[in-house]
Amino acid sequence: MQSRVALVTGGTGGIGTSIVRRLARMGHKVATNYRDEARARAWQAQMREQGVEVALAPGDVADAEQAAAMVREVERQLGPVEILINNAGITRDSTFHKMSVQQWNEVIATNLNSCFNVTRPVIDGMRERKWGRIVQISSINGLKGQYGQANYAAAKAGMHGFTISLARENARFGVTVNTVSPGYVATDMVMAVPEEVRAKIVAEIPTGRLGTPDEIAYAVAFLVGEEASWITGSNLDINGGHHMGW
Ligand code: NDP
Repeated sequence: MQSRVALVTGGTGGIGTSIVRRLARMGHKVATNYRDEARARAWQAQMREQGVEVALAPGDVADAEQAAAMVREVERQLGPVEILINNAGITRDSTFHKMSVQQWNEVIATNLNSCFNVTRPVIDGMRERKWGRIVQISSINGLKGQYGQANYAAAKAGMHGFTISLARENARFGVTVNTVSPGYVATDMVMAVPEEVRAKIVAEIPTGRLGTPDEIAYAVAFLVGEEASWITGSNLDINGGHHMGW
């Protein structure tokens, strides 16, 4: 297997950590961004104890200049980014009639604008080198909508339009662009949902449980593989059967 340089945004989070670990164990050189250096260094030390080396670069992905500087720093440490996982994301839930402009803007900026901010600085290099893998981590709720998540569902649905347009523009250059849409995964984001709401969600999942971050990382690893070169413009739903069909 060829070792590639992989940038996973939000790599310190629940799903991101699993993606980072999996890509590193596949032999890739992996980097992620951080906003809080002390927290990121502590996380990096934990990863090292597990035998996983991760490069760190500062940067808020919602800010175009910071994202570009973050990519430059990753490339300075590891070399040109060949695999990009747009994973950083947040929720700011509220029913729409109570939603503030700030709740709307923060979610769109972090989940959707970040895809522009981080992908734009790496796409030229991927096209020139005729190889690249880009995966957006969207959500089940970008496909089916969710009560209290008009901002999040709009951002996550927007990632699909982004994916399929980039897939068309870059297929001839050996760059594949896909989306993974997780259902409810047991991370801090989901554990922050009140227990009774979570129980209702689990009751709707045919497999009868939340997903694990490693189950999402498995799909990402598949899509970035050398042999996945004919998979582009796809969305992979991983949700225990919670949402099926189109
Ligand atoms: P976490 O909250 O555990 O992790 C989110 C990560 O994103 C953290 O590393 C966080 O860093 C980073 N991040 C957030 N905002 C920014 C920003 N502005 N700039 C840079 N980094 C940022 O979330 P999950 O692991 O649960 O989610 C990962 C992705 O998967 C998200 O896109 C989410 O929407 C999606 N998803 C999650 C599901 C779930 O059930 N958990 C279901 C479907 C989709 P920091 O520590 O600095 O905040």
